[in-house]
Amino acid sequence: MSTTPATVDLRSDTVTQPTPAMRAAMDAAPLGDDVFGTDPSVNALQEKIAAMLGFEAALFVPTGTQSNLCAILSHCGRGDEYIVGQMAHCYRWEGGGAAVFGSVQPQPLDHAPDGSIPLAHIEAAIKPDDAHFARTKMLALENTLGGKLLPFDYVQAATGLAKSKGLQRHLDGARLFNAAVAQAANTGGDARAEARRIAQCFDSVSVCFSKGLGAPIGSALCGSREFISRAHRIRKMAGGGMRQAGLLAAAASHALDHHIDRLSEDHALAKRLADGLAGIEGFVVEPPQTNIVFVDLEGAAKARSAELLAHLAANGILATGLYKLRFVTHLDVDTAGVDRALTVVRQFLNT
Ligand SMILES: *Cc1c(COP(=O)(O)O)cnc(C)c1O
Repeated sequence: MSTTPATVDLRSDTVTQPTPAMRAAMDAAPLGDDVFGTDPSVNALQEKIAAMLGFEAALFVPTGTQSNLCAILSHCGRGDEYIVGQMAHCYRWEGGGAAVFGSVQPQPLDHAPDGSIPLAHIEAAIKPDDAHFARTKMLALENTLGGKLLPFDYVQAATGLAKSKGLQRHLDGARLFNAAVAQAANTGGDARAEARRIAQCFDSVSVCFSKGLGAPIGSALCGSREFISRAHRIRKMAGGGMRQAGLLAAAASHALDHHIDRLSEDHALAKRLADGLAGIEGFVVEPPQTNIVFVDLEGAAKARSAELLAHLAANGILATGLYKLRFVTHLDVDTAGVDRALTVVRQFLNT
């Protein structure tokens, strides 16, 4: 009797199921009402993440999108603008929320191949104080960006430039801990210390618990006490005040305690997948630095990309293909799953 193998879901690191230990932590969490500010598990999480990253305060929010919105609307007012990368989530992938809800204009700039925004382009985009222009108020960086670790000396230089020009500096660190684990592997340092070193270059940092860290829901925005009190008001307006949210905060807290160091396993599996795909005719694979593998298809393979995704899905391998083919490794993917994905891809190309 044969059994159908489980689906290998490589669409995103958001698809993870809470582990039994995480569910137990949720079950045991003391709960209050966070709109009254009296949920002990939410308060404990906010204190934990703020302390980890070296900030005065933090705010637990349902999504990374709301976290970025709270950040942008707390740093910028109507008629202000923020400098941001063309592919940045808080420009391209959030429905234009900062413009829609805050009348804040983005100033998107192209990325260099390593994900950075060249310093000269940032400097040239900062508008003079002149009635023709929006007021340039903030620089937003993202790390990792599309799975790429921004070079730390670049992060220091770009945020140093922004500070010298009087701009606020926001980090969309949805995958900050993937960046920190990759950076620690390069420097021989400690992942938590690297996360803090990156975060301390910014005035505010958003992190997602619902991505590689494996929690079901939730992000945190970190900053000064005064900044977080403004963000708290925006969160309320955005409908993000949650009640017995400690149930979710406990999952996030468990993830911070148990799921940071293991991100290196996701990075190793992404490399295994990339190495396997790189040997295939027509597959141009960017060597992954963290847990995301992008593949450009060329020639005969390109013409069949929709067919390939359908073949993968029919065989229990899920991936996405918006700009390029994208495969993301996470807590619920193992070596056998990656090897099966490679087998199914090869099988397709032999048909
Ligand atoms: C996923 C993601 C977000 C948004 O998170 P949601 O919880 O899906 O709203 C923001 N920024 C980056 C870089 C992301 O990858």
